[in-house]
Amino acid sequence: MNNSGVQLKLVLLGDSAVGKSSIVLRFCKNQFSDEAEPTIGASFINHDLELEESEVKLQIWDTAGQERFHSLAPMYYRGAKGAVIVYDVTNIESFERAKDWVKEIQEKGSQNAKIALVGNKIDLDEYRVETEVAEKYATENGLLFFEASAKTGIGISEIFVGLSKVLPKTP
Ligand code: GDP
Repeated sequence: MNNSGVQLKLVLLGDSAVGKSSIVLRFCKNQFSDEAEPTIGASFINHDLELEESEVKLQIWDTAGQERFHSLAPMYYRGAKGAVIVYDVTNIESFERAKDWVKEIQEKGSQNAKIALVGNKIDLDEYRVETEVAEKYATENGLLFFEASAKTGIGISEIFVGLSKVLPKTP
């Protein structure tokens, strides 16, 4: 295995309650809780990911979505090579907020940072953000696009594998 030990810093951003912490919990521990505790400020977790030709050490920063923590966000996204921007597919407002995050990262995030836009909670029936609309927006803005459910686990590892594959890896 080559490239062993490369480290990638990723940051999760998005409105509160869209499921950022749940996505991390599902990906890193394969668990889900209906009563997830809100994240205060930010927290991080390391997770090793084995890709086909390399091992990547992910450092995943999970940020609080509340507006009162917004001013802290640059501390977490500066230096991050990848951003996972999450919205809730049942909540149009959270999609609008995700677009604001996309703009902010494209303007102020690290140069060449890759962004994955993620519509979470696809296990729920009341879709408000249509896949085609979100996918079109993602394509027009050069983002990777995923739909997922932290509850069922569907689509979750694809987000991190997809981002890791397109990010430049420097030891
Ligand atoms: P965060 O504030 O963005 O980190 O969101 P949380 O991870 O704390 O999740 C907020 C709420 O949504 C919690 O009650 C979770 O159990 C719930 N939740 C998270 N992901 C999903 C999902 O994929 N499907 C469903 N049905 N609920 C979810």
